[in-house]
This record gives sequence, C-alpha cells and structure tokens, in this order.
Amino acid sequence: MATKNLPFSKEQIEKIIESNPTPFHIYDEKAMRENARYFKNAFSWNEGFKEYYAIKAAPNPYLMKILIEEGFGIDCSSTAELELAKRLGMSGDEIMLTSNDTPASEFQLAKDLGAIINLDDISHIDFVDKYVGLPDTICLRYNPGDLKQGNLIIGHPEEAKYGFTHEQMIEGYNILKEKGIKHYGVHTMVASNELDPDYFIETAEILFKLIIEVKDKTGIKIEFANLGGGIGIPYKPEDKAVDLEYVSAGIKKLYDEMIVTNGLAPLKLFFESGRMITGPYGYLVTKVRHIKHTFKQFAGLDASMANLMRPALYGAYHHISVVGKQHLPHNVNYDVTGSLCENNDKFAIDRMLPELQPDDIIVIHDAGAHGHSMGFNYNGKLRSAELLLRENGRVFEIRRAETLEDHFVTLDFDGLKEFAV
Ligand SMILES: *Cc1c(COP(=O)(O)O)cnc(C)c1O
Repeated sequence: MATKNLPFSKEQIEKIIESNPTPFHIYDEKAMRENARYFKNAFSWNEGFKEYYAIKAAPNPYLMKILIEEGFGIDCSSTAELELAKRLGMSGDEIMLTSNDTPASEFQLAKDLGAIINLDDISHIDFVDKYVGLPDTICLRYNPGDLKQGNLIIGHPEEAKYGFTHEQMIEGYNILKEKGIKHYGVHTMVASNELDPDYFIETAEILFKLIIEVKDKTGIKIEFANLGGGIGIPYKPEDKAVDLEYVSAGIKKLYDEMIVTNGLAPLKLFFESGRMITGPYGYLVTKVRHIKHTFKQFAGLDASMANLMRPALYGAYHHISVVGKQHLPHNVNYDVTGSLCENNDKFAIDRMLPELQPDDIIVIHDAGAHGHSMGFNYNGKLRSAELLLRENGRVFEIRRAETLEDHFVTLDFDGLKEFAV
C-alpha cells in the first residue's frame, strides 16, 4: 500500500487540534528549508542564480520570511502581492513582477519598489513608457508557440494568453534599445506541475537559442534568463520528484556550449517556482463529520473547496491519510466530500481508505501551494487558519481563521448608499 509520511505523530496533531479546531493548514518549516537549500545548492555553479518564490502559491508573510532567510526573492503577480513584498521590506531585484493584463498603477508600484518588471505583451512597452516611464531593467515574456508543448494546466502555448511571439521578442528588444533601456532579461513559462526533468532542460535550450539570436539581430546582451515556475511535485505516492541536480547538470552543459562559447556569459539564471517550494510541506488537517451511505459511500469533512480547490477545479489528485489508521487495510471505497452545495466539492472520488468514523482526523497532503490561497467564500464558507510547525517542534498561528464578522465586513446592514446619477 502506497503511503506518504506526516511530519507529526497522532498525539502531536491531536494536541494541536485541542487549541486549533479543524480545518487548518499546517506547514513544515524544517522540510521547507531543506528543500530550499537543495534547490539553491543544485544551481550554485551559476553566479547570480536566484529563485523568486511565486507568492500566489501561499501568500503568507511568515512563509516568505523563511524563504528570504534561504536567499529567495519574491515573484508577484498582482498589486496585493507587491504590497505584501513591500510590507516585508523587500525591494529592488528581490522582487519580480510577472503579471497579466496589468494596470498602470501596478506597474507604477513595481517601479517604485525597484522591482524587475516582466512584460507580457509588446503593447505594454509603450503602455509603461506612457503611464509610468520605463525603468532601466526590463524582462520580456516569451511564448514559444509550437516550438514547445505545454501541459494540462496551461494548455498549448498557442492557446495560452501569455507572452510575446518569437517575432515580437526581436521587435520588442529593438524598441527597448531605441528607448535606451540598460539591462535586459528574458522569461518563459509554458507548463505547470511538470514532472519530466528534461522539460526544464529543453526550456533552457529554447531561451539560450533566443538569447544568441537577440545578440545577433539587435546587439543586446541579455543578462538573465527566468525559466519560470511549473516544476511539478509528486502528488501521488508513486510519482517521482523532479531531480534538480539532473536538471541543473543538463542546463549547465547547454550553458557552456551555447552561452559561454558565444561570449554571452555571465548569464544569471532565475526560477519563479511556487508549487515545488511549499506544496509538499503544507497539509490540510480536517475531520470526518458524517459518514453517509446512499448510492455510494460518502465521508463528509469539515473542510470544503474553500480550503483546497484543486481537486474540484482540475480533478487533481491529493493523497489522503487517515491519522492513526495509515497501516490498516484500505478496503472501503469513499467519495471524500466537503460541505458546499456543489457536487464537485469532493477531495477524492472512489478513493480506497480504511473504514472511517466521525471525528477521524484526515490529512490532505501537498496542500502547501495553490491551496489556502485559492480558497473562496461561496456558500459563506470561511477560510481556515494557517499554522507553522517550526524546526523546534513549536507550533505558531501564522494566519487566523476567518470569522463571520470578516465575512460580512463589506456589507452595511444599516443602510444603502445612494449614488448621484
Ligand atoms: C503560477 C506561476 C508561477 C508558479 O507556478 P508553480 O507551478 O507554482 O511553480 C510562476 N510564474 C508565473 C508567471 C505563474 O503564473
């Protein structure tokens, strides 16, 4: 029987639940730090290497503080995320803005913070120039179209709304050159949750080719290549994690052959991974509320899509452990459900689990990225607390659970506001 480990014992989690009612997310600091160091060490050959944590995956300042201590920057996709970076005291090239359909005010905030701005479209060059003024450093997002296959979450690159075409990239750098930009970067991201390590080596090759071509056609020497995020994680017990040392060795070989040989070194390599940085180190802890037998057997939890939406949104697999019953036979077929009035509010369909009873503690694995942050309030479901299990075994609340007062805060029950029309 395939299993996944938990960073706490049954007794520990019962103790934590005594003071923090389920559901909640809990993050394992020790494992997160070890993984961050593994990532950095794998690419230590590249001077200037930096991982910008895609903060949308788990926008919690306390998790970000840990990653800052490990030398990571932040990748922001919105005004709120830039503001979070600002409140953490981050600035300059610690921040990357990779956003879509970006408003002028967001470009302005990024510029004020000195962040690296990654443009998603050729028209944004004039837009930023007109409304904000172009900063000294600009990165362009490349969509390689049919040169590269996408995958399920992002889809075919030609269908994706992201980035410049090949022709637009060359034209874009030429425009930037005319406008006197001093430093240039290139970015691409065409896959999400990809487990094939060769995929990332191919991505580097596509960018390195483009960097050579840009030098030939425009004279511009690109200083950094952002390989995006999208590194997958082993959601299923039988999945294999991406071997970052293998990826790094493959990229280094291409770097020597293509970048060094053509006099284009040094080139700094960046990633903006979210999922693989926090995903496996976050757990959604919930309890069985009711067991229901009708046409199927249902285990209803005290969590719902508000706490973790990926299974409902993409049919994504999340492993489920029943605390204290991991070693019992998994011989009962359940749909594991939340409490929303939406039939897709299911954490698992036809999942073989040990026989369940109300109050059994259920842990949903790999909820540390695109988990809590994707939550929403449909049906008036309140979003849960986030806890941090520190290296010393102590547990801290890093976000409190929402209350009904939070939920109603945007409503004025005492009167209507009338507009002069
Ligand atoms: C979502 C996103 C990321 C992070 O993706 P992961 O799959 O979590 O690594 C990075 N960059 C961009 C532009 C994104 O949209």
